[in-house]
Amino acid sequence: MNRSRNHDLVILGGTFDPIHYGHLRAVEEVRQALKIAEVMLIPAGHPPHRKSPWAAAPHRLAMTRIAVAHHPRFTVSDREVHREGPSYTVDTLRSLRQERPDALLAMVIGMDAFLRFDTWRDWQEILELTHLIVTGRPGWPAAELPEALRQTLYQRRCDDIQQLRRQSAGAIFFETITALEISATSIRSLLANGQSPRFLLPDEVLDYIEHEGLYQSP
Ligand code: ATP
Repeated sequence: MNRSRNHDLVILGGTFDPIHYGHLRAVEEVRQALKIAEVMLIPAGHPPHRKSPWAAAPHRLAMTRIAVAHHPRFTVSDREVHREGPSYTVDTLRSLRQERPDALLAMVIGMDAFLRFDTWRDWQEILELTHLIVTGRPGWPAAELPEALRQTLYQRRCDDIQQLRRQSAGAIFFETITALEISATSIRSLLANGQSPRFLLPDEVLDYIEHEGLYQSP
C-alpha cells in the first residue's frame, strides 16, 4: 500500500506520575525500530484501571511537556486530561484516527499492561485502530495469557517490521527494549522519604517537582 508516512505516530499513554526515563527510552527505542518520525505522549486524566494518580492532571501534563520540551520529535497531547470521565484508550484512538485516517499508529504498552489487555474497554476495536507494540519490562514474569487474548495474539502477531509498516493498524509486535528498572512508584517513594530520584528522570522534571512540592508525603 502506498501511504503517506508524514502522520505516522508512536503513541504512549500513561499516568506519568511522574514521567521518567523508563517511559522516554521505551518510546524512543520503538520509534527508531519502526522508523517513525513522531512520538505522542498522552497523560491520562482519570485512568479507569487504577487508583487515582497522586499528582493532579495539570501537574502531570506539565511534567510531561517539560520532559520533552527540547525534543521536537516528541509531542504531548492534552486530549485525555481535558476529557470528562474516565480516560478510555479506545476514545483517544478514535479521535486520533479521525485526525490521521491513513497514518500508521503504533501504541506502546508494557508487557504488564498487555497481560491484562483483554480487560480494556473495546479492546478488539483498539486493535482495529492501532498496532500494539508490546515492550518487555523487567520484573514481570511471562504469565499465562487469558484465552481470548491468546487467540487474538495468534491471529495478529507480526514479527516483521517491513510487514508491519505496510499496514496502518491491526498487528501485535513485540519489541525488546533496554531494561530500565525505573517506576513512578519508586520515584514517589524516594521523594516521600526525603531522598533524591535524580538521574531516574529529567532534571527539569525534578526541578518542577521540587518547586511545586509534589510527592512529599507517603
Ligand atoms: P506506577 O509506578 O505509578 O505504576 P509507571 O512507572 O508504571 O507508574 P505508567 O504511567 O503507569 O508508569 O506507565 C505508562 C506505560 O509505560 C505503561 O505501558 C508501562 O508499562 C510503561 N512503562 C512504565 N515504566 C516503564 C519502564 N521502566 N520501562 C518500560 N516501560 C515502562
